[in-house]
Amino acid sequence: MRSEKGNKLPTWDLSDLYQGFDDPKIDQDLNQITKKSIIFEGKYKGKIAKENLTVEFLESALIEYKSLLEISAKPSCFAELLFSTDTKNTKHSALLQRTREISSVALSHQLFFDLEIGKIPDRVFDQIINSTQLDSYRHYLNHQREVAKHRLSETEEKILEKTANTRGKAFTRLFTEITSRQVFKIGTEGFTQSELLVRFHDPDRDKRRIAARSLTHGLKQNAHSLNFIFNTLLHEKQIIDQLRNFELAETSRHIANEVEQTMVDTVVEVCVKNYHLVEEYYQLKQQLLGIDKLTHYDRYAPIADEQIQIPFAEARQIVLEAYGEFSPELAERAELFFSKHWIDAAPKTGKQGGAYCMKVTPELHPYIFMNYTGSLRDITTLAHELGHGVHNLLANQQNILNYSPVLPMAETASTFGEMLVFEKLLSRIESPRQKLGLISHQIEGTIATVFRQIAMFRFERAVHQLRRQQGEQSIETYCGLWQETQQEMFGDSLQLGEGHKWWWLYIPHIFQAAFYVYSYAFGELLVRSLYAQYRREMAPFIPKYFDLLSAGGSMSPSELVSNMGFDIKNPDFWQSGCNLIRQQINQAKQIHETLNKTHSTDGSSIVSS
Ligand SMILES: [Zn+2]
Repeated sequence: MRSEKGNKLPTWDLSDLYQGFDDPKIDQDLNQITKKSIIFEGKYKGKIAKENLTVEFLESALIEYKSLLEISAKPSCFAELLFSTDTKNTKHSALLQRTREISSVALSHQLFFDLEIGKIPDRVFDQIINSTQLDSYRHYLNHQREVAKHRLSETEEKILEKTANTRGKAFTRLFTEITSRQVFKIGTEGFTQSELLVRFHDPDRDKRRIAARSLTHGLKQNAHSLNFIFNTLLHEKQIIDQLRNFELAETSRHIANEVEQTMVDTVVEVCVKNYHLVEEYYQLKQQLLGIDKLTHYDRYAPIADEQIQIPFAEARQIVLEAYGEFSPELAERAELFFSKHWIDAAPKTGKQGGAYCMKVTPELHPYIFMNYTGSLRDITTLAHELGHGVHNLLANQQNILNYSPVLPMAETASTFGEMLVFEKLLSRIESPRQKLGLISHQIEGTIATVFRQIAMFRFERAVHQLRRQQGEQSIETYCGLWQETQQEMFGDSLQLGEGHKWWWLYIPHIFQAAFYVYSYAFGELLVRSLYAQYRREMAPFIPKYFDLLSAGGSMSPSELVSNMGFDIKNPDFWQSGCNLIRQQINQAKQIHETLNKTHSTDGSSIVSS
């Protein structure tokens, strides 16, 4: 962490929410939440799913529901924000726990509402849904109806809810407990999983190989329990999906994501058709690393030493310039986070790791949390979180029921922002070796987010299908399918070693959120495609992009993109995103060739423009 003049790392000012954890306003608000929820329940429960429901009555319920959500959000967000910068402060953790308990009580008085929306008689719903009074709620109402189609009776739902922690959730918790407690050995030294995974980025191949062996060994030790957990979860999902009448194992995820099966199929097909890009990149990486045959523990080996250090003030300038070259209006909004102290970037003891952007309500602005240490990765994170920030500021014109974009769209502005900053950084770096490092970093990030997630999704499809058709399977079968679905993407460029077949056992999403992974690929590739379009269109693209962000979650991904004039169902749309990756690989190849010709050495760092 640097501290020279003009480079002080910012901490946030939360006074737009409360004056501090002892602000009496917090108690007042917390008291209101349950009280108002009980009043809401008394006023509307049993009166929504009725033959005589009127537009006016439903609208008034929606307005009150909205305000309930707004009142609840403020103290909860404040407590989360406060806690994450100082986790050791017991007053902060006590406040957090209190807000969670109160929210959960309040929620129990609000739950009936969505359930009843689902049960409004079709005839009545069809009559009122197109009323202009419901314009800003239509998407929300329609989505609730879609979800409701797969709900069971109230009694059955209650049983499922009340036994949830003794069924699947108990097994996912066991997965987390086993995985987080495990100590991986290297010699006599013990490592946690995350400490071990960092070693795959080590330039020393021996260190990587030893770390890989330790990971495999550790996973094999727990293989029986982990496989038992996995089989139980597959079976539970099969039973509940049958009861809820979901066609495929992945269907429930698509409904939540508001995407259609055919769109997901298209994305998967396009990605698989472009696996050769992964193969080509790893062929290049093999030459760059000068290793005879790449294997699983070489995937993340660094190309260039990441020595670039960027002071925060410079990072701020780079990000704002990159945003501003796209659109001054975008930069203006991003600048607010710095000038109004909505960002906490200073690392300190007791502060949580990682980064996030937290939205509060449409009436309030979001906050950005991160730990800035000056690395290239940190400037990318700053660009990413500011993307979320401006997305949220723009979507604030929607109401709280539909201002949050669905999962596949949630990373649009953040990824787009990262791409703008990537290009900016590339233009500022002089050393070809570091340029190559930056491009490789970008390509590897895309491979991890797009192709690897699709490969995992194909693994999940295969195992859920197999479980449904042929019953419980052995761990060898799952290991075989994992190895096969991952190897496909590398072609001949990289041969996954025998030990790698056990590595599905540490992927949390596979255990905790079935079919979640494709959303990453969907979102990331969608942004690549939009970015490719921006490069073709330039200025005319910008207002359409603002419209997309401003719509928040008030439309489905397909509606949002088609409003921009593109067809998300057309494979060509997705292919244009892949073509952008192809361009980056070509760029990396070119630099590599030039370097080979000139044998240039370099030590220079980033230069200010
Ligand atoms: Zn994000």
